[in-house]
Formats: sequence, C-alpha cells, structure tokens
Amino acid sequence: MIEKNGVVLVLSGPSGAGKSSLINKISDDIGDFYFSISTTTREMRDGEEEGVHYHFVSKEEFAKDIEDDHFLEHAIVHGNYYGTSLKPVKKALSEGKLVIFDIDVQGNTAVNNRLGDITTSVFITPPSLSELKKRLVNRSTDSEEVIDRRIKMAKREIQRITEYDYIVVNNDLDLAADVLRQIAITARLKIPHDVINDFVQKWEDI
Ligand code: 5GP
Repeated sequence: MIEKNGVVLVLSGPSGAGKSSLINKISDDIGDFYFSISTTTREMRDGEEEGVHYHFVSKEEFAKDIEDDHFLEHAIVHGNYYGTSLKPVKKALSEGKLVIFDIDVQGNTAVNNRLGDITTSVFITPPSLSELKKRLVNRSTDSEEVIDRRIKMAKREIQRITEYDYIVVNNDLDLAADVLRQIAITARLKIPHDVINDFVQKWEDI
C-alpha cells in the first residue's frame, strides 16, 4: 500500500524531445518535487554521473532488484533494463511531493495501473520526425546505429500517444515550458480515490 499525499507526473517522449531542458526551465516554479532517478543496466554516457542521471548497475544487480520487488515498474528499452525504485517514490509521495518520472510508454502504463488516480501523463515530442533526426545528429552524443534505434523507437512510441493526458510539442522551448509548467501545477490538484471516497462519506453524513 502506498500512502499518497503527493502526486505523480510522468514525462515520456523520444530522447531529443527536450525533456531535461524543459524540466530545468520549470523547476523553480512547480513547488516541492522529487525527480525519480531510474536504475539502468546501460553504459554510462560521457557527461553522466552515477546517482545524478541514473543508478548504473550490472544485469545481475538489476535481476536481484526485480526478485526483491524493489521496483515500482521496470522495462527493457533499447535492449537495456530500466527501472523505477519504489522506496524513494513512496517516501516522496508520503511527503506530499510532486514525483516526476522520465520513463517510456511501457513505464507509463505500469505507473498508471498502480497509481492512476494520482498520475498525470505527458508525452513530449519535437514537431516532426525530421526535426527529431536533426536534433539527434546535431547533439552528436550517439553513433549512427544508436540514432537509428532511437528513431525507430520514436516511431513506435508516437503510436501510443493517445494513452497520455497531454501532449507537449517542443518547437519553441519557452512556449513548451509554459505549457508544461501549467500541467505540472495542475497535476497537484489530483485527489486520490480513497480521499474522494472519504469526502463523499462525510458529505453524506453532515
Ligand atoms: P536513455 O537511455 O536515453 O537515458 O533513456 C532511454 C529511454 O528509457 C527513455 O525513453 C527514457 O524515458 C526511458 N527510461 C528511463 N528510465 C526509465 C525507467 O525507470 N523505466 C522505464 N520504463 N523507462 C525508462
């Protein structure tokens, strides 16, 4: 049972959509939040830090965490394992925080199955596939093969865009940040089902 005073904001979308830049832009305006740091078995990229971008673990460690039921959700993305640890999320929710996840469409489904009543989901995308390709090539952190894989993945993910509450098209960073800021603030207004049921009970009794 997860005690739920806080709420969840799921952000999905292809790498290159600008999720990190958007979060940085709005981080001072959305109140107390906890950005969930996922665990992954993928290789650390240049510029990434353990415990900041991800917890980087071996496949064996990841398998043990699955066995011990440590994850709220986990999935294979681009051939690597990614997972959201339950413990820090529980803590942040019990402290009434806005918990932000940067997870893929599989993760969004899993989080909605477990925490749907307090979850708001947003799919962030560049305006077009050609713009995504341009951004991935320009940031030149990935090999051609990795870029191809990301593009294929993006084409698959966009097919499931209707599973999200909101879509943010990141064409102009400032405008997209304005929209995301409003969504993040509104996400806090979600009320868990048990609180609503309590309210109805009391409302009828008065
Ligand atoms: P990257 O390797 O580029 O950092 O992330 C690849 C993809 O994995 C992104 O779509 C990202 O949203 C997703 N991802 C990162 N962490 C998690 C996680 O904990 N769970 C799930 N389901 N997806 C994740």
